[in-house]
Amino acid sequence: MSGAGLSARIAEAASRLLSEGSAEVVIGFEQGSIPMRATPCLVTDPSDAGRLVWNAFCANNLAKYLEPGRKAAIVAKGCDSRAIVELVKERRLKRSDIVVIGVPCTGMADPRAIARRFPGLRVTAVEESDGMLVIHGGPGPVSVPLDEVLHAGCRLCAKRNPVVCDIPMGDPVAEIDPGFPDVEAFASLPADERRVRVEAEMAKCIRCYACRSACPLCTCASCFADSSQPQWVGRGAHPEDVMAFHVMRAMHLAGRCVECGACARACPTGVDLSILNRRLASDVSELFGCRAGLDENAPQPLAASSMEDPQDFILDPGRKQE
Ligand code: SF4
Ligand code: SF4
Ligand code: SF4
Repeated sequence: MSGAGLSARIAEAASRLLSEGSAEVVIGFEQGSIPMRATPCLVTDPSDAGRLVWNAFCANNLAKYLEPGRKAAIVAKGCDSRAIVELVKERRLKRSDIVVIGVPCTGMADPRAIARRFPGLRVTAVEESDGMLVIHGGPGPVSVPLDEVLHAGCRLCAKRNPVVCDIPMGDPVAEIDPGFPDVEAFASLPADERRVRVEAEMAKCIRCYACRSACPLCTCASCFADSSQPQWVGRGAHPEDVMAFHVMRAMHLAGRCVECGACARACPTGVDLSILNRRLASDVSELFGCRAGLDENAPQPLAASSMEDPQDFILDPGRKQE
């Protein structure tokens, strides 16, 4: 189904849910104020439902906007639904408070990738048709397959169809789940090269916390990074403080990170946070046989314990780590 067709169906469902009182708010996307942007949109009045759109730029993870105790409908692609699964497991949300308007996803376009593909083009509008983006702004329109300008995380998506869904929109799409080729490629590099690469990524960080703000699983009422008593990590952009912030954040998300890539997409300086997040997701997958968000009934691996859990690191504290 076309983006316009999906937009109309989403608007219709939103209007109905608000009119019948099944939801106090519908969380979706509206057209952004500049091309290649769709922005989160919270609709509470059925007459505003027509603002809702669906297109190749609906990249944010909207689960971030769900609030405990507020009956909400949410337009959810695969990664939004995976975040909902984890938030319900953590009892931060009640599944019965949420109506999931599920949208199968073929990946979201990365404006930075489009800029690299068409250097100097001042994009004025983008249309979508049969997996192609038709881009206006030059002397004539240019086109590119959506597949060639996806966000990096969308190429590695573990589940593009919604994991949980109450109102399905459109036919399911083929799943791709390629596993962790990026993690394996990085792990195969010599240790020095890995260190240089991680330090180069961290050096770009300006501690703006956009990654934390965009992450649906960064839910602590009080973040360790803001604590002054005790101060777990310094607040400046000193390399050690930056590294400590990102390592601690990644560890806090181990087994919970749904690999949506929202943190990396929000980063204004282009820090590749997947170096840490996906490495931990890969380790959790290998050690505990699970991926966050894919199974409603599976316990969170680091919030549960079993005699079957890997324990050799406890029995052999001197074991050398890779
Ligand atoms: S991570 Fe998956 S579900 Fe999320 S936008 Fe990308 S392809 Fe779609
Ligand atoms: S850490 Fe990044 S990839 Fe993981 S859930 Fe949060 S925003 Fe998504
Ligand atoms: S969004 Fe980017 S620059 Fe800002 S704190 Fe996160 S990694 Fe650093």
